[in-house]
Amino acid sequence: AEQQLRQSDKLRALGTLAGGVAHDFNNLLTAIVGSLELASKRLDRDPETVRRYLDNAALAAQRGASLTQRLLGFSRRTDSRLAVVDVAAAMTGMRDLLSRTLGGGVEVEWRIAADLWPTSVEPDQLEVAILNLAINARDAMPDGGVITIAARNVSLPAEADLERGLTAGDYVMLVIADTGEGMPPELLERVLEPFFTTKPVGKGTGLGLPMVYGFAQRSGGTLSIRSTPGQGTEVVMYLPRAGEADEPLPESAPAAVRRGP
Ligand code: ADP
Repeated sequence: AEQQLRQSDKLRALGTLAGGVAHDFNNLLTAIVGSLELASKRLDRDPETVRRYLDNAALAAQRGASLTQRLLGFSRRTDSRLAVVDVAAAMTGMRDLLSRTLGGGVEVEWRIAADLWPTSVEPDQLEVAILNLAINARDAMPDGGVITIAARNVSLPAEADLERGLTAGDYVMLVIADTGEGMPPELLERVLEPFFTTKPVGKGTGLGLPMVYGFAQRSGGTLSIRSTPGQGTEVVMYLPRAGEADEPLPESAPAAVRRGP
């Protein structure tokens, strides 16, 4: 009987999960259709506004893609391959999109080291990860504030920080920090759970951080989050320095989530 109970609990959980996904997917499609309609109404007038609506539609579509990616396998995709990516170039390439997406309410400070190593990550996913983190940062600062986007090289010694689940070696450390509301420990503990969100329906999917974590993990890096209520949050992605191009996927590493500073 206990076995059966567990089985039906699992089925219920699965049903809830599928319902949640259908709901989130529907919200994203509504956002895409709405943005496209608004864009087409403004076509004769204001190119900046049209562009913003199109960016919104593209972003919602990307979120939809990462949602299906979640369903296809939480921590890895079977067709996933790593490639050599220049983080500095990727960041420069997305500056306009980022400032348009974030709107005028927040200030973005860039601190990208000049001599960044190339990294070995899934191509195209880095931009989506940074967008997700920056949107979270903005959402945590309803009254405005500063988002710092920083990147620098770090070499972890042999007795490397095991808490971060990293092996010794060279990493590009990517930091997205905000001066927002922060998170209490009981919230911080749950943020990597798929579908965990504190945002209103239609705004949050609860898939942003799990997606970013999966991305870092599949690259052989990890994610570390520190947060202090009332002061802000700092999300750090460790991305391994590139060795050979098109490496096979490494084994998973655990994430570190903790109170800071
Ligand atoms: P979503 O943004 O769709 O809610 P995420 O997985 O990206 O999904 O985030 C989960 C939750 O973690 C958010 O709803 C929010 O409560 C919290 N969170 C994430 N980033 C931050 C941040 N920078 N500051 C404060 N809270 C955050």
